[in-house]
Amino acid sequence: MKNIPNTNMINNLPIYWSRDYVLDSGVETRTKSGPLAKILLNGEVPGVEIIAPLLATREELLVIHDEKYVDRLLSGNVDLARSILASTGGVRDALDAMFINGRSGSLSSGLHHAKHMHDEGLCYINGLALAALRAIKLFGAIKVGILDTDSHCGGGTFQLVGENENVVLSDVSCNSYDVWQPNSKRHHLEIVGNAGDYLDAVKRGLTHIEGVDALIYNAGMDPFEGCSTGGMRGITHEVLAERERLVAQWCEDTRTPAMFVLAGGYGGPNLDLDGVARLHLPTIREFARIQNSTNING
Ligand SMILES: [Zn+2]
Repeated sequence: MKNIPNTNMINNLPIYWSRDYVLDSGVETRTKSGPLAKILLNGEVPGVEIIAPLLATREELLVIHDEKYVDRLLSGNVDLARSILASTGGVRDALDAMFINGRSGSLSSGLHHAKHMHDEGLCYINGLALAALRAIKLFGAIKVGILDTDSHCGGGTFQLVGENENVVLSDVSCNSYDVWQPNSKRHHLEIVGNAGDYLDAVKRGLTHIEGVDALIYNAGMDPFEGCSTGGMRGITHEVLAERERLVAQWCEDTRTPAMFVLAGGYGGPNLDLDGVARLHLPTIREFARIQNSTNING
């Protein structure tokens, strides 16, 4: 690794978020970080620190997206543009913090379906691809892993960085939306058919990323059976808590720097916005736990 930022390490898990992330759109992708941040600011999960990111710049977006698309987005709805720049800035800042601290996260979501020239599936800017390229170009990472456990497939990420020799993709899905075709040993995609196979599939997804220098984790909670979009019967709170434990344990055992973003997680007949926000707490609890139990730089 090179270019490790000259910033002080903090003991708590740094999590990037600002009010600019939240857009009163009625779509959980851009609303759920508000109640989730409130839960964290109230101290419900010990050992985390909420930090406001700097906005992403147009130039940063152009590293992965088409110029006309980016300019159309930035000159369109002012509130949406600000939400996109804030939440993409949070992904970038979380990546930088990961290389200082070992662990980090951003309450960003709406990333993995975004394509080079257009938005798709509630995703505008592919922060996963942006972070992976930054890890390679700025921090000298040789192998960057992207683990995607959102219920839907990450076809946008595949389009943007699937051909990059330094990127290892591991996608464990429950739904064929935005499916992509693996065409390299660096690629792993599994669409789980029933809940009984789910955790074994997650283990296979983790095996695939063995040996990466850093992990970018798209921690989707929409496989949860209570989500009306993406949910699979039998994938319960307990199953998802175990999934997050497995991912965190892998990071700890392999001493791999890791950052998370939120990905999917949607309401349902018995799931309100606060319930959707709370779906994401296991990811944060596990990352906070491993932040406190490991010193990967030591
Ligand atoms: Zn999804």
